[in-house]
Amino acid sequence: MKERIIESAVCPFCACLCDDVVISVDPASNEIKEIRNACAVGTQKFLSTRHADRVQKPRINGKETDYEAAIQKAVEILRTAKKPLIYGLGNSGYDAQRVALEIAKHKRGVYDTSESICHNLLYSELRKGKYPFYYALLDEIRDNANVTIYWGANPIVSHPRHLSRYSVYPLGRYALKGVMDRELITIDVVDSELKKISRWFLRLNPGDDAKLAEIMTRLVNGDTSVLREDDEMDMDTIVKLTDRLKKAFYGVIFVGLGALSSEAATKNVEAIFALVDALNKTGVRYVLFPMKGHFNVMGAVQLLLRETGYPFGLDFSRDRMFEPGKTTVLDVLEEVDAALIVGADPYSSFPKAKAKELCDMPVISIDPFETPTTFNSSVVFPAAITGVEAEGIAYRMDGLPLKLDKILDCEYPSDKQILERIYRALVL
Ligand code: SF4
Repeated sequence: MKERIIESAVCPFCACLCDDVVISVDPASNEIKEIRNACAVGTQKFLSTRHADRVQKPRINGKETDYEAAIQKAVEILRTAKKPLIYGLGNSGYDAQRVALEIAKHKRGVYDTSESICHNLLYSELRKGKYPFYYALLDEIRDNANVTIYWGANPIVSHPRHLSRYSVYPLGRYALKGVMDRELITIDVVDSELKKISRWFLRLNPGDDAKLAEIMTRLVNGDTSVLREDDEMDMDTIVKLTDRLKKAFYGVIFVGLGALSSEAATKNVEAIFALVDALNKTGVRYVLFPMKGHFNVMGAVQLLLRETGYPFGLDFSRDRMFEPGKTTVLDVLEEVDAALIVGADPYSSFPKAKAKELCDMPVISIDPFETPTTFNSSVVFPAAITGVEAEGIAYRMDGLPLKLDKILDCEYPSDKQILERIYRALVL
């Protein structure tokens, strides 16, 4: 049989959703023979179908079973639950996210994604309405930006092709010489791989992000009195850097979890919003762009915004269904009495005390891979890997929808199919 070539496959690892991956498949062996254009982590995702950590069979309380029995058990758990939590879904297609949302609505449960942990402060700042949100699609940024700032982010590790596709290296309409026309600035509390390639690398003490942004905002606004007030920071460099920012043709601040989820994150977010606002008021276009992690966390945000007007953390048992701090996942764990976890590992990613709360309730997991969460679940469903063994729709980190292909055949149903079976049995 002739090899099958998939042109322009979309990589389902990170929210860059690189859509230029070329894959050749041997139909006889149902194996990928060659992958071009993906980075190392993306390549590993495509090759993970035979990973030793695949969930092999459905399980109930640790014992292998079949899908039918596991569906019945999952439905029994959800039916008995007064308020279940439906969580994860950042690694699922949009249609799977939609079915999971229907389950949450039907059960008047809580629906949340990692967005409520990673980016909730950003939304809180937006809701205050103090500063406009200067935002742009990645294509516009690639075409225009000649000053690129990564603040508390290291895309070389988290989004390896971000620099080559959207920010630093590509040619743009107004960056005809690519990297030669752009300047890379990194601000972080740790040294990272970006240090070697950044024109400016500003290493801060932990907790100093807001202070730096405030000083720069004052300098942008022409307030030089700040230079006499602070003798701890490298003012000479900050003055030069601010000057560079002001002279940009178009600038972008890609802000990562280093600034958004540290202890001082509330102050950081407000101060960085203020800086972007001040720069725009001087007449230079600057945008603020949060770096999203999981490949389709943005799909879940889009879905919830369309259906409810809110981006994450919804408790359908309450009249006021969206109240960060009350309806978001880390705040409801004492109230919920069962959990349906899809493609996520809260046992590893939640703070320890919060993860422990999951031990007190039945947990249903749908995941292609074994994780501490699947090992601690009452019911486990192996699922196809979306974007490799199942098709789907995902939203890039800037909200652009892209179609994920089914590259290989697979013995497992997709998470969407499993969720649909659960939902159908639940509403009968
Ligand atoms: S940058 Fe992200 S989406 Fe692109 S190939 Fe690498 S892992 Fe995949």
